[in-house]
Amino acid sequence: MEKILVSACLLGRPVRYNGSAKPLAHPSLERWRQEGRVVAICPELTAGFSVPRPPAEIAGGKDGQAVLAGSARVLEATGGDVTDLFVAGARAALALARQHDCRFALLIDGSPSCGSGFIHDGSFSGRRHPGAGVTATLLRDHGIEVFSDSEVEALERRLSQRT
Ligand code: SF4
Repeated sequence: MEKILVSACLLGRPVRYNGSAKPLAHPSLERWRQEGRVVAICPELTAGFSVPRPPAEIAGGKDGQAVLAGSARVLEATGGDVTDLFVAGARAALALARQHDCRFALLIDGSPSCGSGFIHDGSFSGRRHPGAGVTATLLRDHGIEVFSDSEVEALERRLSQRT
């Protein structure tokens, strides 16, 4: 049975920068949990961040691909450069996915780590642009299909094609 890597904050864990969670109440996710298919990950906590922590965004309107290529930085609102920790978190997520043979991930959108459809532009003004965060990008680069929290039905369909 396919296992699925899932953002810990979607599972109700209060690991976001501000100490909150973003629990996703969806019958498919609940069923996957009951079936023991869910592998929880918070790339940022795994990399060593604490809760709470300053919000961070990929600077300059760039994306996770640019971060991994070394041409963009991840900066905290307070000015700290946390690029290396974000890359470390992405690598840890990939290692966990491989350990559990996950070919699919369900990650919360908008995050500089977990975002897969949109991220914020680095201005800390709420402005979004299409793109993926560092973890979502690294997973995709290694063949793992990433779905956002608004794509649970699409993930369900994709899983059903494989069973
Ligand atoms: Fe949630 Fe991902 Fe941010 Fe962790 S890194 S708090 S799992 S969005």
